[in-house]
Amino acid sequence: MSGILKAIVIGAGINGVTAAIELKQRGHRVLLIDPGPLPHPLAASTDISKAIRAAYGPDEDYSALAERAIPLWRKWNEEFGVQLYHETGVMFVRRQEMQPGDFEYESFKVLQHRGAKVERMNAAQLRERFPAWSGEAYRDGVLELEAGYAESGRVVAALVEHARSVGVELREAKFSQLDEADGRIKGVVLDDGHRVAGDTVILTVGAWTPYVLPFTKTFFRASGQPVFHLKPRQPKLFEPERFPVFGADISTTGYYGFPLSPEGVVKIANHGPGREMSPESSNRVVTPQDEQNLREFLSSTFPALADAPIVNTRICLYCDTSDGHFWIAPDPERPGLIIATGDSGHGFKFAPVLGEIIADAAEGKSNPLLEKFRWRPEIRAGQQKEAARFNPDL
Ligand SMILES: Cc1cc2nc3c(=O)[nH]c(=O)nc-3n(C[C@H](O)[C@H](O)[C@H](O)COP(=O)(O)OP(=O)(O)OC[C@H]3O[C@@H](n4cnc5c(N)ncnc54)[C@H](O)[C@@H]3O)c2cc1C
Repeated sequence: MSGILKAIVIGAGINGVTAAIELKQRGHRVLLIDPGPLPHPLAASTDISKAIRAAYGPDEDYSALAERAIPLWRKWNEEFGVQLYHETGVMFVRRQEMQPGDFEYESFKVLQHRGAKVERMNAAQLRERFPAWSGEAYRDGVLELEAGYAESGRVVAALVEHARSVGVELREAKFSQLDEADGRIKGVVLDDGHRVAGDTVILTVGAWTPYVLPFTKTFFRASGQPVFHLKPRQPKLFEPERFPVFGADISTTGYYGFPLSPEGVVKIANHGPGREMSPESSNRVVTPQDEQNLREFLSSTFPALADAPIVNTRICLYCDTSDGHFWIAPDPERPGLIIATGDSGHGFKFAPVLGEIIADAAEGKSNPLLEKFRWRPEIRAGQQKEAARFNPDL
């Protein structure tokens, strides 16, 4: 695709808003469409925190991408004029000694090899430095120092304002279907029947993708993940200096969480298989079983949180691909359509570099990562996963 595009970006979560800004800065005309309000309350990007880490087990592509993103997060803090990225460190610990092949060991090796600031944590150090952890249960792990979390909902709000300021046109509307003619995409049809013409349609609707474009159902699965906000009785134990972002044997339990937020809550969630559901499903509620599982985890890991009141819960949705890698690619059968989704629960951290990758796909530019994120219907579920993800079937 050469020359100035009239790009229609559908969905203003982190994928859509970063793509829209990048395309605008490359000189294209950009229309960003989302029913709003923004950040959208049901969007995956809309939350109080998302982890920012370079620890990705043996997968150096993601570690390298995170290494590029993290200094840009610091820069965004300056540009936003408010701290939305908090470099609290991210720690992954295991109940057993780290072994070759496990997520923590491979992450430690890769990060050490890449010169990242990492420390190996043993049970004594854990007890001494991070007293909220039960001193017996966890024995080994890795602490990544140049990592942390971002206040994701506030980041999207700031980027939407920035998009407006650089001339992205925003329209509060809902995409209904593609407008196709002569074998190519001519634009979109909105749910009010209006047609909007454009050269390229970039679909960034996250977990809505298999529902708004049913032909993608074989590629994507919307999976609901339980999220809990707890009010600790001893908040000091959970302040960032004493309680970095964590993964607790994450590839075998799924549990991870965040230090005390500015609102005074500790968020804990599960990076597991999740439950398949539509983003607008009425089933989008945390179940008594989810809560019981959480309580069992807390009592064995954070005794001070075992009976802490839950002040908020949410089911947040991943757009899962069969292999856990993102999907940023042109549709080979529908020239003019780019689908940029497939976050599989780990895309937000790359926000500062995501727009560039999506814009390269829209312009047909070569980018080594686009091979990893290519259109790949041949990949079937159950063959591989993102290294930190807990998946009992694998
Ligand atoms: C529980 C949970 C925890 C996570 N934790 C992390 C983490 O710690 N670190 C990390 O890096 N990543 C994490 N992620 C992943 C991260 O949230 C996603 O990578 C990212 O938010 C996906 O953004 P998106 O723009 O693709 O989708 P979304 O943020 O869901 O945005 C999609 C947008 O599309 C719009 N839309 C939907 N339908 C239509 C339509 N018909 N027309 C127009 N617009 C439409 C919606 O209104 C919404 O604004 C987590 C995800 C979840 C669910």
